[in-house]
Amino acid sequence: MRLGFEHTYSALPSRFYARVAPTPVASPALVVFNGPLAEELGLDPGAVEPRAAALFSGNELPEDADPIAMAYAGHQFGAFVPRLGDGRALLLGELRARDGTLRDVQLKGSGLTPFSRNADGRAALGPMLREYLISEAMHALRIPTTRSLAVVSTGERVYREDALPGAVLTRVAASHVRVGTFQYFAARGDQEGVRVLLDYVIARHYPEARHEASPALAVLKAVAARQAALVADWMLVGFIHGVMNTDNMAISGETIDYGPCAFMDAYHPNTVFSSIDHNGRYAYVNQAAIAQWNLVRFAETLVPLIDADEDKAIRLATEAVAPFIAQFDAHFLAGMRRKIGLSNAEDGDVQLVKRLFSLMQDAGADFTLTFRRLAHAAENAEEESALCELFPDQTAIRSWLQDWRHRLKSDPLGHEERGARMRQVNPAFIPRNHRVEEALNAASGQGDLEPFRRLLHILQRPFEEQPGHAEYAQPPQPSERVYRTFCGT
Ligand code: AMP
Ligand code: MG
Repeated sequence: MRLGFEHTYSALPSRFYARVAPTPVASPALVVFNGPLAEELGLDPGAVEPRAAALFSGNELPEDADPIAMAYAGHQFGAFVPRLGDGRALLLGELRARDGTLRDVQLKGSGLTPFSRNADGRAALGPMLREYLISEAMHALRIPTTRSLAVVSTGERVYREDALPGAVLTRVAASHVRVGTFQYFAARGDQEGVRVLLDYVIARHYPEARHEASPALAVLKAVAARQAALVADWMLVGFIHGVMNTDNMAISGETIDYGPCAFMDAYHPNTVFSSIDHNGRYAYVNQAAIAQWNLVRFAETLVPLIDADEDKAIRLATEAVAPFIAQFDAHFLAGMRRKIGLSNAEDGDVQLVKRLFSLMQDAGADFTLTFRRLAHAAENAEEESALCELFPDQTAIRSWLQDWRHRLKSDPLGHEERGARMRQVNPAFIPRNHRVEEALNAASGQGDLEPFRRLLHILQRPFEEQPGHAEYAQPPQPSERVYRTFCGT
């Protein structure tokens, strides 16, 4: 079977990757298939789905696939590893999507590659379903992200702390070029490699940079701009990526690599879920600063291409990355204005937003419910009491609401319009950790996919009310709370 692959990455010099076939699995069975995404990719779901178990396990290679493991490096929790690469993933090729863009199709969990180091090249069902669920939820929240086309169980066990059912995820991405891909070549002193990779990235993601005086500098600025918007998008829904290593930052500006990521329930800026993030390096509130740190690592790889005069190149690169926090702040504030129902801007808005966060933190108020109920309160003042229930100290929140209502008077929107707009940016449904765990435990432990399918269905319409699923909008009971998430490779 042919899927219509193009091969722009495997046409790059051979040192960019290792050509390697997937390792067949014992007994592939299709767990979930994303028909609408298949259509977006120009595939015929009716023809592909019946063969999906074989195709998306790696057992049957599409005739036009050219599987490669991509080379990359990366800073992991601040420590540089010069050679990481796809240790358990293979890029099959790129498909020209209906919208004209090229999308990578990658198997994750497809067996050993020259980059596997001491690991097994495999993936467990739970974490692959987790990536499927959360990436599709992020997409429905209109946040740039890699997508998930399929999960196939392998009929094999993978050995982690326990023996777990194995699976292969098919991931779709604007590309899999990471900050760490640039670092791989730069660290080996392979300037030609960096240059070829930059040309590739310009052609694929930043064609407008080609006409700038310094294309390398233009790409750096454009990547920074996309990251500033992306991290703001994350934080506006309470998302914590959890492993913002430089190998997990995509040059395209998509969210990539769903490991120990999680959404906050109760608001606290220092929230960390990842079991391996002991120092809170990747805590909620640190995400913009870490993105900037990663961009500085990216900038370092580009210095020789920015200007022949090294001092000048460093100055230009520094100037390109310096405004990052201000760019992030601007996106975040613009997003917060939308979340609290403002269509115009006034100087005091920052203070209004900060006061709300401070009250939420003191109260441990649920992030998602606070804003959703605020949307209801904007439309109908009687709904205010439901919001206030989230705050033990009702006096403080009532006084905030009074100031907010006063501020709304100088905004042109009417009640209904404001409420409708707020509901479009303040989701009712996010992938709450306890629901995600419940769904994955049922799938991985009992082979029961019903909770996973139900949750996926709900998360595909996060801004709709869905009265039949109201319990999925609720935060966990104390006994249901999830404190730690695992990379679960
Ligand atoms: P991640 O933590 O998923 O971003 O992966 C970091 C690095 O470890 C990448 O080079 C992965 O390819 C590699 N890796 C993670 N899990 C495995 C595995 N089970 N087998 C081989 N390589 C792996
Ligand atoms: Mg990774």
